[in-house]
Parts: sequence; C-alpha cells; structure tokens
Amino acid sequence: MRPLAILGGTFDPIHIAHLAVAWEASELLDAEVRLMPAAVPPHRPPPIADATTRVAMLRAALGGQDRLGLDTRELARGGPSYTIDTLAELRAQEGDRPIVLLLGADAFAGLPGWHHWHALFEAAHIGVLSRPGALRNWPPELVDEVEARQVADLRELHAQPSGKLVELDVTPLDISATRIRALLAAGRDPRYLLPEALFDDPALLAPYREHDFQPR
Ligand code: ATP
Repeated sequence: MRPLAILGGTFDPIHIAHLAVAWEASELLDAEVRLMPAAVPPHRPPPIADATTRVAMLRAALGGQDRLGLDTRELARGGPSYTIDTLAELRAQEGDRPIVLLLGADAFAGLPGWHHWHALFEAAHIGVLSRPGALRNWPPELVDEVEARQVADLRELHAQPSGKLVELDVTPLDISATRIRALLAAGRDPRYLLPEALFDDPALLAPYREHDFQPR
C-alpha cells in the first residue's frame, strides 16, 4: 500500500526547503505527503504568526500541485500537539497503511525530549531528512533505536505499517524559518527563499514584518 507520510512543523513561515524536502521524500518513498502545522508546539516558543495565518500560507504555498497535501488536524484538536496522539488518530483512520513520520535531522536528534518518544517508533516508520548543519551526535538511546530499526531499502516501508527507520538523502538547502523571520523583521524581502504565492497577499507576511526580532 502507498504510504502516508507526515511532515509536522510550525511552518512559521513555510519556506522553499520545507516544500523541496517534502517533495523529494514523496518521490523517494512513493508516498502521499501531508504537511501538518502544529498548534501549540510543546518543544519550543510560540509561533509568531497565528494558526489561521500559517494555514493560509500553507494553502497558498501548496497551490498548483497535487503531490503534497495539508492536514490541519492538530489545529482542530487544540491544546499541545503531541505527535504520538496524532499518529494514533491517523492509525485509527488508515488501518494497516504504512505511515511515515518525516523529521529533519535536527528534529530527529531532539526526539528523546518528545512525549512518549519510544512509542513513536512503533506507531509509524521514521524518515530522517538530511539537513545542513544538523549534528549527528545522537544520544545513546536514540542510536539504539536507529540500529534496531534502520533499513537501507526504502521499499521495505511499503511492506509493513510501522517500525522501520530510513535516512532520506534530500538536496541540502540551508534555509530555516528562523533566518527568514530575521530577514523580514530587518525589513528585507527574502523573495526566493519563500514560495512566491506568499508575496501575493501582504497580510501573510505582515506578522513577521511587524515583529521585533529576538534571536532564539
Ligand atoms: P525554525 O527555524 O523556526 O526552527 P524550521 O525552518 O526548522 O523552523 P519547522 O517548521 O520547525 O521549520 O520544520 C518542520 C520540519 O521540517 C522539521 O522536521 C524540520 O527539521 C524540517 N526542515 C525544515 N527546514 C529544513 C531544511 N532546510 N532541510 C531539511 N529539513 C528541514
């Protein structure tokens, strides 16, 4: 069965690296990929743009193609967005369909800080997306999970619903939302780092232009 892959994030704002790596993951895994904005991310400071604006940016960015979709269930649920709860919900809907949790290598390194993180490996497959600058000094308990679950052949993810880990070697793009927020707050216009459609509606990027940038 064709897997369902999820790329969660704050998307504050969505940038072209999100789109590029999600697209490449979809090609590499032959999977449907959905971008899933988080409501109240448990692991980080609150987003600058509100949920409505972040969804409007995602919708604008995803126009004109049908390989990447949008899933707003975490916003609808409200409260903290625990990935383990989201995966349980998806599993109930999708039955035995393979589900892949996509994580940038930086996010993957922080996994042991997540709610019920060991259970994530049973709830879904994990796809680690290469990301420039991400360190590989994983804590030993994470290395244990990788060693037990990693497979080289991406097709193995089609054969069972969950439990494997793959590394996805995507085109390195050293772009982050942090950097883009800083550029916008400094009055710059990072046109080619963001999906073009975000510039069509001035309201979309206004929260960042008005925000006093605090490095974090
Ligand atoms: P911020 O700078 O605010 O932390 P971000 O650019 O990392 O934001 P997120 O919304 O936090 O964006 O990222 C969502 C997911 O996309 C995470 O798993 C993250 O690791 C991954 N991701 C973001 N940018 C890249 C990139 N340039 N290459 C690979 N993965 C990325």
